[in-house]
Amino acid sequence: MAIQLHDTLTGQKHELTTLVPGEVGLYVCGPTVYDYSHLGHARCYVVWDVVVRHLRARGYRVKYVRNFTDVDDKIIARANQRGEDPLALAARFADAFHEDLDALGCLRPDIEPRVSDHIPEIVALIELLVQKGFAYAPGNGDVYFAVRKFPEYGKLSRRNLDDLRSGARVERGEAKLDPLDFALWKGAKPGEPRWPSPWGEGRPGWHIECSAMSKKHLGDTFDLHSGGKDLVFPHHTNEIAQSVCACGDALHADQYARQWLHNGFVGIDDEKMSKSLGNFFTIRQVLEKFDAEGLRFFLLGTHYRRDFNFSDLVLGEAELRLGYLYETLEKADRLSAGAAPAANDTLLERCREALDDDFGTPQVLGLLAEAFTAANALCDLKGKRSPGQQASLAAFAAAARTVGETMGLLGRPPRAALLALRGKAAARRGIDGAAVEAKLAERTEARRAKDFARSDAIRDELLTGGVAIMDSPEGTTWKVAG
Ligand SMILES: [Zn+2]
Repeated sequence: MAIQLHDTLTGQKHELTTLVPGEVGLYVCGPTVYDYSHLGHARCYVVWDVVVRHLRARGYRVKYVRNFTDVDDKIIARANQRGEDPLALAARFADAFHEDLDALGCLRPDIEPRVSDHIPEIVALIELLVQKGFAYAPGNGDVYFAVRKFPEYGKLSRRNLDDLRSGARVERGEAKLDPLDFALWKGAKPGEPRWPSPWGEGRPGWHIECSAMSKKHLGDTFDLHSGGKDLVFPHHTNEIAQSVCACGDALHADQYARQWLHNGFVGIDDEKMSKSLGNFFTIRQVLEKFDAEGLRFFLLGTHYRRDFNFSDLVLGEAELRLGYLYETLEKADRLSAGAAPAANDTLLERCREALDDDFGTPQVLGLLAEAFTAANALCDLKGKRSPGQQASLAAFAAAARTVGETMGLLGRPPRAALLALRGKAAARRGIDGAAVEAKLAERTEARRAKDFARSDAIRDELLTGGVAIMDSPEGTTWKVAG
């Protein structure tokens, strides 16, 4: 089955068709780096990471471009507040963004262009728009795009110009002919970074950067463009207008990116995440308490187009489920050691098909859950596994890890993952690992002395404190009781 994806431009699911067979050019709008990245960023970039991984698993050569917005009002305001150079502040938060996304297991894009490195390309694109009559410089140092010159302006957001215009306003100091017109270039104000241009010193507006950087790295037309659905209007709407009018002849919206993907919002405890509501979490705040792969597993449990709801409670549950997967993998590895995997690609193929259908990550997690339940039952059978059972456990573990690779999950050695998950859960519950180990040693001693009453008392005491212990021929281990 070919890959089907929901295209925002048409509002329908289509087969992925690429300009060059077997190759995909993907542009993802990256972060404006003025602060630490939050859960909304985690959701968005984990989603596009799986899209890239899946396209590659299906044999596409993907050129993945994701920008950094390092010149922007918010960056300038924050830097001026702190008395820091805006570009230095942006570079610092770009590094922090990399650290956070690395922790979440996201692959780095092939190209990560920054606005500050693309000023000549941006100026050239604006010049082209002015030359072709789509943009105007009223003489105050700004340059604006004339929205009414592009008939398909509202197509991506499916709104007409009058509706859009009623929500637009002209700020003081702007010299727009139409409230919907937007700035391509902003004349320099005191205390702002500035670059020379034909209209005087200044800096680019927000939208033009993505048109200029995608043109440079992917060409005038490319296959896929994605971002959060909050970017549909005005950012992506304006990107389309700029790029099509600068480069196209027939002025159709699909002459820029051929297909558009947008992810849903992130809410916290059923409320919109916002700093003013006090329910705003950075990725690093969440990762202090929770496991990074657990967060990724949790994020992928919701389809990318749906809004996502976060709470500590369900994230904790997701960690438990991830722990179950690793426990099962550990058992399957141990019981199938040395066996050649049976030829069985069903799990892998069904998961690939779920991702082919508009990147159905929740379906993949559902398929994995079924397969892990079956494997776990096989692991827990009494007695020795037959050679056939060993081969099917080996096949299961191999397929699960291959699916995991596409999802960016299950890549750790099971023991290490289980210890890490246990460490986070224990810290959240205030359980002291060293004290638990001391109790376990005491219990082992009691069992050796055949003092089973004492041994049971210790087990009960630990369980009351939230610690479950598991005895096996390999020794006694513990976990945080779910
Ligand atoms: Zn963009």
